[in-house]
Amino acid sequence: MSLTKKIIIALILGVIVGIGLSYAPTDIFSTINMYVLNPIGQIFLNLIMMLVVPIVFVSIVLGTAGIGDPKKLGSIGIKAISFFLVTTAIALCIGVGLGFLIQPGQAGVFDTGNIEYESQSAPPIMDTIINIIPRNPIESMASADMLQIIAFAVFIGMGLATLGEKTKGILNLFEQANDLLMWLINMIMKTAPYGAFALIASAIGGAGLNAIGSMFMYMVTIVLGLILHGAITYSLMIKFIGKGSPVKFYKEFFPAMSVAFSTSSSNATLPLAMKIAQEKLGVKKEISSFVQPLGATINMDGTAIMQAVATVFIAQIYAETLGVSDILLIILTATLASIGTAGVPGVGLVMLAMVLQAVGLPVEGIALIIGVDRILDMLRTSLNTSGDATCAYVISEYEKRKEAKVLKS
Ligand code: ASP
Repeated sequence: MSLTKKIIIALILGVIVGIGLSYAPTDIFSTINMYVLNPIGQIFLNLIMMLVVPIVFVSIVLGTAGIGDPKKLGSIGIKAISFFLVTTAIALCIGVGLGFLIQPGQAGVFDTGNIEYESQSAPPIMDTIINIIPRNPIESMASADMLQIIAFAVFIGMGLATLGEKTKGILNLFEQANDLLMWLINMIMKTAPYGAFALIASAIGGAGLNAIGSMFMYMVTIVLGLILHGAITYSLMIKFIGKGSPVKFYKEFFPAMSVAFSTSSSNATLPLAMKIAQEKLGVKKEISSFVQPLGATINMDGTAIMQAVATVFIAQIYAETLGVSDILLIILTATLASIGTAGVPGVGLVMLAMVLQAVGLPVEGIALIIGVDRILDMLRTSLNTSGDATCAYVISEYEKRKEAKVLKS
């Protein structure tokens, strides 16, 4: 049986077992979770996380050395960042639009009496920009700071490209390290169905579907937004800019989406997402290795949709009206917030706190949505990773056509 089929079965079983467990007595769920689901899930998560930093570092060094010309690198960077900004803005518009249309805040009774939420603060945007250049690259790797690792790797890659023959040995070493890491991903992915099953059953069992209640319409609004963005925005980009088939894209990319779904982490999904993009979707290695890690940190369209819907939802509950300037502020702060925050589980809520503060809505409102956020995190992370892969695919196909044209003339 193919890996994709096994993962689909694991997903379905994970959801069914998770729903079953959410109705089981708490101590039964805790025991099963503690001795079976959690260990299996965490071991799988550790196995894939183990590869994230080495893969991002090695592949960006190789990617940058492969592109060679700093101008070309800059142009790919600008294209990727523009793509990220445009798609995030579209995602936010979809979220706000659906929030106004469906009005999830009017669809139930919400008790805002004595709720509390302690928000963590995200770093100011200027600090994020300054800190892109690491003072100590070993520390960046130890704390898996993606933007800093990217910056360091780009410098090393540029050096290797410039020095050419002189550093051929180091380049060979990176190439061999890359082969080794790809072999490791293959091995680890064999355990994905078991890991995914355990993570999903544990997350759904723990979140408890009975918590949904009045939050149902809020969840429907977000899920609809995620589907629309994936099926329309990305598909149109794949079709018209990438000149490819969206159906084939999603079929091939599915295993990465399911790992994103089970781990709720774009970072953890990176190794597999990059491998599929390069080997199955034909994305040029140097583009995939540069664009996807960048996207995992700064591009989160699924999270943007959640933030937009959540802001409108909380405004409706507190009977606050959002004007055009508030909506523009939501789009601006949510986009900026996503740049500085990493692709790890639950970070969307940190970003949401920033957006709520910016438009002057009570941050405690987050306490209302936190109960169902774990499940939504799984779904939006799948879209987040797909967005990064779409960007890599579209830019790669565009560059391929450009190169073919140059060759012809
Ligand atoms: N878990 C998401 C990611 O890793 C971020 C979030 O929405 O919380 O992409």
